[in-house]
Amino acid sequence: MGEVHRNFINGEWLDSSSGKTFKSRNPANGDVVGEVVMSTKDDVDRAVTAATAAAEKWRLVPAPRRGEMIYKVAEILARRKDELGRLVTREMGKVLPEGLGDVQEAIDMAYYMAGEGRRLSGETVPSELPNKDCKSVRVPVGVFGLVTPWNFPVAIPSWKMLPALICGNTVVIKPSSDTPICASEFVKAFEEAGIPKGVVNLVQGSGGEVGEALVTHPGVHGVSFTGSCRVGERLHALCGGLGKEFAAEMGGKNAIIVMDDADLDLAVEGALWGGFGTTGQRCTATSRLIVHEKIHDRFVEMFRDRASKLVVGDGLLAKTQMGPLINAAAKGKVLQYIEIGCEEGATLALGGKELDSGDRANGYFVEPTIFTGVTPQMRLAQEEVFGPVVSVIKVSGLEEAIRVVNGVKYGLSASIYTRDVNKSAVAERDIDTGIVYINAPTIGAEIQLPFGGTRGSGIGSREAGGRGGALDLYSKWKVIYRDFSGALQKAQIDKD
Ligand code: NAP
Repeated sequence: MGEVHRNFINGEWLDSSSGKTFKSRNPANGDVVGEVVMSTKDDVDRAVTAATAAAEKWRLVPAPRRGEMIYKVAEILARRKDELGRLVTREMGKVLPEGLGDVQEAIDMAYYMAGEGRRLSGETVPSELPNKDCKSVRVPVGVFGLVTPWNFPVAIPSWKMLPALICGNTVVIKPSSDTPICASEFVKAFEEAGIPKGVVNLVQGSGGEVGEALVTHPGVHGVSFTGSCRVGERLHALCGGLGKEFAAEMGGKNAIIVMDDADLDLAVEGALWGGFGTTGQRCTATSRLIVHEKIHDRFVEMFRDRASKLVVGDGLLAKTQMGPLINAAAKGKVLQYIEIGCEEGATLALGGKELDSGDRANGYFVEPTIFTGVTPQMRLAQEEVFGPVVSVIKVSGLEEAIRVVNGVKYGLSASIYTRDVNKSAVAERDIDTGIVYINAPTIGAEIQLPFGGTRGSGIGSREAGGRGGALDLYSKWKVIYRDFSGALQKAQIDKD
């Protein structure tokens, strides 16, 4: 066994106080990617103490200087992109071009947030009184606890750490137990960039113990979480009770509408990428196809034909188009939903089985799966599957299609394929999701815009983007009134 991946606390790589470790494995073949320390509440406490001490100095570093350090992180990540992309594929399973894309997203975010260091603007507005001025400025929240999932093991940590740091906060991150080494290697880029001690801290371990100890720690002022609704809602209740800033990005039940005037070849390409890209394990994955009855049969035939040819296997092989699921529990959940779909009376039009022989015997593979004859109220059409399962729902027109899109508890991403500009405008206006795509699938967000959903998909400020997005979570407004009249002036009272 090679190096043990340790916690990063106060600028040092430390063993955990438990003395225990766990193994991170490749979901395509069970190979051990590495060994990682299993932390305790004491380790969390140590990390929060370091972050608290560092916060006092870090908030006083001018934001453009903070940006210069983050720019260095971008350059380091760009230099290491190939190595990190391969690690993402080995530890998480997504195919190599997507592993590289995961790292590219972090590079993009680092360049973008480096620039924000010179743009952290507030407002200057006129006072109603003479010889007085007023302005609002962004100030850091303090120490942030960050809890991240496995499906974007470099990108999502970057979405949280980089805006938190540019705004002058210090951070403690607890990454997913399924992808701890990606997070560890990502944090090394901050170490190499010379980020001061204690500004970035990493604690590895289980969500129930380490994650919960982190978010409820009295020294943590703000929490940003991405993951399941079950955990997000629990943490929201805990943090609300403790008066912490809180934001969560959670699940989705994203849909593509295919209208009768759509470019069907383009729509099929989009449905394939949205439904089976990342093995359907994106919060924005396309899990429902809402198809106009006039083109339904032709579209299904084209889509099934293309999906049946997808090559499933180890994401490091150039021929592979779809990788494994993340772990045994995820595979079990996907197979269970396939069973539920059959029991509910949907038609299994493609796939439905696990792939567990030959060189896929030690991985978590499920065939690309398509259900037709799905009705909007079936569990299959309502609940998040988080795997390569796409449900086709037939509709008679745009109004019905939009009703179906909106008829779930989630509101993350949706899209419409149409060549009619009026129909696309109605969809843009009436679909109730945080993200709407026109003639593109439900996945593919860009980092310079706010990311997140309505209703059950998210709580609190959006991620990514600048104003209206991440900067709003990671900074607080302070308003400053300066009176240089030399006299007591009373707002609202001194009118003449
Ligand atoms: P998860 O089980 O909620 O885990 C997410 C993170 O929370 C992991 O680091 C996990 O640690 C930790 N955690 C678990 N229980 C915790 C607790 N009681 N207190 C504090 N932390 C805890 O979700 P997942 O299975 O990793 O990810 C899949 C889900 O995430 C899907 O539902 C998907 O839709 C959602 N997701 C949403 C977005 C988005 O931006 N909207 C993006 C990606 C994923 P362990 O790994 O140690 O359990």
